[in-house]
Amino acid sequence: SETVERHSFGAEVGRLLDLVVHALYSEREIFLRELVANAADAVDRRRFGALTDSALALPADAKVRINPDKAARTLTLSDPGIGMTKDELAQNLGTIARSGTRAFSQSLADAKPEERPSLIGQFGVGFYSAFMVADRVEVTSRKAGSDEAWTWASEGQGEYTLAPATRTEPGTDIVLHMKADAEEYLEGIRLETILRKWADHITVPVTLVRDGEEVAGTKGTALWRKPKSEVSEEEYTEFYRQVAHAFDKPWATLHWRAEGQLEFNALLFVPGMKPFMAIEEQRESKVRLHVRRMFITDEAGLLPSWLRFVQGVVDTEDLPLNVSREMLQATPVLARIRRAVTAKVVSELKSRSRDAESYATFWQAFGPVLKEGLWEDAEHRQDIAGLLRFRSSTTEGWVSLADYVGRMKPNQEAIYILVGDDVDALKRSAQIEGFSARGIEVLLLSDHVDAFWPERYDSHDGKPIRSITQGSDDLSAFEPEIAEGDAPADLADLLPKLKEALKDDVSDVKASQRLVDSAVLLSAPAFGPDLQMQRLLRRAGR
Ligand code: ADP
Ligand code: MG
Repeated sequence: SETVERHSFGAEVGRLLDLVVHALYSEREIFLRELVANAADAVDRRRFGALTDSALALPADAKVRINPDKAARTLTLSDPGIGMTKDELAQNLGTIARSGTRAFSQSLADAKPEERPSLIGQFGVGFYSAFMVADRVEVTSRKAGSDEAWTWASEGQGEYTLAPATRTEPGTDIVLHMKADAEEYLEGIRLETILRKWADHITVPVTLVRDGEEVAGTKGTALWRKPKSEVSEEEYTEFYRQVAHAFDKPWATLHWRAEGQLEFNALLFVPGMKPFMAIEEQRESKVRLHVRRMFITDEAGLLPSWLRFVQGVVDTEDLPLNVSREMLQATPVLARIRRAVTAKVVSELKSRSRDAESYATFWQAFGPVLKEGLWEDAEHRQDIAGLLRFRSSTTEGWVSLADYVGRMKPNQEAIYILVGDDVDALKRSAQIEGFSARGIEVLLLSDHVDAFWPERYDSHDGKPIRSITQGSDDLSAFEPEIAEGDAPADLADLLPKLKEALKDDVSDVKASQRLVDSAVLLSAPAFGPDLQMQRLLRRAGR
């Protein structure tokens, strides 16, 4: 075994940086969000420090300033925040994932076992995203309370330099020397768009220098973080229109703060009408995920797809800013937020459903989407069932399953449904003659999903839900409420002849008490797809 050699892995820090940056961020423009977030953090930290040490007090017009210089091809971010000492520059910017490692080990110790994996997302690497767009970064910083300033500089290749500098006030300047292919980030309009998208709601003002003038880069409202009592209906409506790209008023506004185990602010809206863009096509919830006011993604799937019409924002402290999409999928924190947010929306719908008239407008717009959950979401099937509304063969207006069950005939065992393409056609269908004649209510279903969900949600309140086009002969328990007129003809001779004549098309021909005015109806076997399902399968070419 003298021939076995032992080697250390060679690691090139520059390559590692490259990997970190490209694996974490799918969009280059995110560097600006990361740097603005750091600057805002620094301002907040100084503000916090000033509570106990007046020497740290912020200037009155504290703001983050972004200054692009096309001629020099530099982008400079300046903040009057807490700043960094020479040591802190070396530690925070000179050690990859240092703060992350520390946060990692600390939270590992505090966290419950089931929460541990998500902590991997807390590596402090946001700063390095600057190297996606810059080939040289200089950070000049003066710590609040000190009069020394230092410049940290690096080309992101595994080395950095530290040199004494001057800065008249505490704070930090970050100068990015932009790569040749990143000049777009020196365009005022581009920078403004990026700020609007990713950082519009941080509370520290951000300004942008455009054509020598300083303009506001962000609005800084973060409406969802304000207490309800401080937000007017107009503000809610304006914000709703902005996030939903809508023109109507919200039908429901849910604004709350979760505290304790899970901390987040949420501001959600149920639109007042169906949006122009077909929600049948969009499959995933577009509710926006923010972390400490910063926009992260609108693809976190914060609500199940059967609630994808809900619009708005969830903002949490419980996730790191630089959480990647892959990590989002895996983190149990997000799963718990999702559960809490879903429960809240469901309970709001439940309470709003007591106002039948108002609920009808909601149901007409979004009922078909909600019903998809009966098929695909076993966990919420029961909740959704309570929210369902149907057209009915015996009344106008909308009927809930509870309404239906409440007026079932004494010896009626099943909830009867008839599924088709059009409610008016269903009302005239021969299929319901026998039920109408006996005063038995039939629910009339005409949405696409109605062909599917009864297969999975097949009973309610202990009563089976049965398609009346399936198995045709169970009405013997009910007395017809009409005079029978002529006695039924003796069909004994006719049935075998019909059966013979139709033998290529139907499996059986039976006498039925289901018919009153019509001579014949088509029926599906008691088990297997009902008539509507058979129609759909035929249309799909199967
Ligand atoms: P994170 O923000 O997740 O800790 P970053 O890589 O974004 O990781 O930043 C690393 C650290 O550098 C920060 O935690 C902070 O201590 C320091 N830092 C970065 N930018 C600034 C700034 N503008 N002012 C003061 N400190 C900063
Ligand atoms: Mg950061």
